[in-house]
Amino acid sequence: MPALHIALVAHDNKKSELLEWVSYNKEILAPHQLYATGTTGTMLERELGLRIHRFLSGPVGGDQQIGGRIAEGRIDMLIFFWDPLEPQPHDPDVKALLRLGALWNIPMASNIATADFIVTSPLFSNGYERRIPDLGPRDWDALKPDA
Ligand code: PGA
Repeated sequence: MPALHIALVAHDNKKSELLEWVSYNKEILAPHQLYATGTTGTMLERELGLRIHRFLSGPVGGDQQIGGRIAEGRIDMLIFFWDPLEPQPHDPDVKALLRLGALWNIPMASNIATADFIVTSPLFSNGYERRIPDLGPRDWDALKPDA
């Protein structure tokens, strides 16, 4: 099965939960292409030794970068432990990221329980043909991955 492109993001109060979850599922995740916002990615690389493509930190554009990649069809899955108890300075970016994930039919987990269901699903290990909504022409050739 080809590697999935999986984006990992956690707000500050949720970073320890994500670290624990990724650590527990390291073997499952390691063969895939992992992406993260800046601080989340630095933490996961340092603590777990994973190779991660890091974007900017969330509040300074990282969420938007991931959203852009989703729109380009270059992210297959989003594990985003956002903080339901604290407003974020970049709330509009958070909302935009979640919106694009929903729009493009990306599996998204916002908590450990959902993330557990996703990585233990046969669809995760055996492959899944995600239905991509027809939202008008996209110039796929111009969107060839550069990383
Ligand atoms: P961070 O960004 O990983 O750089 O902390 C996460 C976010 O707030 O979206």
